[in-house]
Amino acid sequence: MNWQKQLSDLGFRVSAPRKRVMAVLESAQQPLTPLELHQTLLRDHKAIGLASVYRTLGLLSALGIVEVVYRSKGEMGYMAAAQGHHHHILCQECQRAVEFSGLEDLSELIDHVENQTHYQVRDHLLQLYGLCPECQSKHADEKE
Ligand SMILES: [Zn+2]
Ligand SMILES: [Zn+2]
Repeated sequence: MNWQKQLSDLGFRVSAPRKRVMAVLESAQQPLTPLELHQTLLRDHKAIGLASVYRTLGLLSALGIVEVVYRSKGEMGYMAAAQGHHHHILCQECQRAVEFSGLEDLSELIDHVENQTHYQVRDHLLQLYGLCPECQSKHADEKE
């Protein structure tokens, strides 16, 4: 299901600022901060206020149309949301992020945490960091 349909099914308008924000996020390979998103839109001569970018991201993330991916310095970035149970791995050098399907088995960890804390675990947030293939080969070149 595309985001326009998702949005209008939920009773929200597919407005120009929402379209502009989603167009940038859908073509980006890195999670973008609200400021970067704003700068990209201004560079493309799309008039939009920073407050409107924040408002739009707030709504779209509350609706699950965009999702937060943390950058290597812990800043919140935004990406167009993928379907189903998934997580992201982010390159610490170029900040490119890709998703992987959430097939992880956390049952051992969850048992351990429940025993230790007596909380009932209901959900999890997982993101991995590393080096993407391109940055790995850049490093390999440097060593030659
Ligand atoms: Zn990289
Ligand atoms: Zn998971």
